[in-house]
Amino acid sequence: MELKEIGEFGLIDRLRVGCLHGGGVIRGIGDDAAVLEFTPGALVLATCDMLVEGRHFLRQHITPYQLGRKALAVNLSDIAAMGGTPRHVLVSIGLPPDLGVEFVEGIYEGMKGLAAATSVNIVGGDTVAAPVLTLDLTVLGEVESERLVLRCGARPGDLLLVTGELGASAAGLALLLAAKKTAVPEEVARSLLAAHLEPRPRLAEGRFLAGKATAMIDISDGLASEVHHICAESGVGAVVWAERVPIGPATREAARLLGRDPLDWALYGGEDYELLFALPPGRAEEVTLCLTATTGTPVGVIGECRPAEEGIRLCYPSGESVPLSPGGFDHFRAEGGGETALRG
Ligand code: ADP
Ligand code: MG
Repeated sequence: MELKEIGEFGLIDRLRVGCLHGGGVIRGIGDDAAVLEFTPGALVLATCDMLVEGRHFLRQHITPYQLGRKALAVNLSDIAAMGGTPRHVLVSIGLPPDLGVEFVEGIYEGMKGLAAATSVNIVGGDTVAAPVLTLDLTVLGEVESERLVLRCGARPGDLLLVTGELGASAAGLALLLAAKKTAVPEEVARSLLAAHLEPRPRLAEGRFLAGKATAMIDISDGLASEVHHICAESGVGAVVWAERVPIGPATREAARLLGRDPLDWALYGGEDYELLFALPPGRAEEVTLCLTATTGTPVGVIGECRPAEEGIRLCYPSGESVPLSPGGFDHFRAEGGGETALRG
């Protein structure tokens, strides 16, 4: 059997059997980060993400600084999705021998910039020669046991919410890859490229939601895929209201100029690194007002959890609804192998 027949998530489901042989694992494979208990009450969060040249990024489309910064950002985003605080990072790099020293130093400048901004220490790693540039970061974080947020706590009736806007990163990637540069206004292009190349992990927002959200995940593969993950782990169904999916004016403008569907970018594009979370309906208004007042980040309701037998549906303003396919990105099912997005 070939990997592409079962896909990335099918493979992980097979590998996850028989992995645990000791105590201290609160949550192993299946969430944004592993949750480990070394000392009772204080939980360690551990996550890693690997980025491979040609697969996750093209050297001509990203500066070394942006690459290093983004490699750390996508890992910090997984800690944010657990309600945690990142503390330490290990960095393994595979380097083609002809790569310039300045390029590698640039990657580290980017990582150090974000590490400084988030009070994270780079404490080790590994360096090897490799046929293509490869970056594999492991981040260790922490969270109080009573504030940990998993993917599995959502209940029917809980509202589903997202921070910020969706689809901007996919729009930025589409602009980068557009063969013929379209007449996208400079300021529109700038904000979309920044969304793709310089995502910000929602650490303050995740921390605010710690102990409040019933389930949470970061949006690395696209909203649809993440709703499916929360529903699968929580044992619920969901409805997503199409007109409530937050899409910014720059994303809409780029979609219009490129002849693309902005909702498609928001649902299936991925790499927005916003947070998708569930809140009991009685708490949603108070929590979202307070989150925005504290962090400055807008938050919007995009749907609602339903009993599992109702499935996962996308509902249009007309009242018509269709099953919402998970879509999203799968490393072994991607067409053509030319993917240049940086995904977890
Ligand atoms: P994310 O997008 O949040 O980084 P992934 O979809 O990459 O998460 O991974 C889903 C889950 O599977 C996580 O718990 C991750 O730690 C686990 N996982 C992924 N690859 C492997 C592997 N090769 N061996 C063990 N666990 C894995
Ligand atoms: Mg994640």
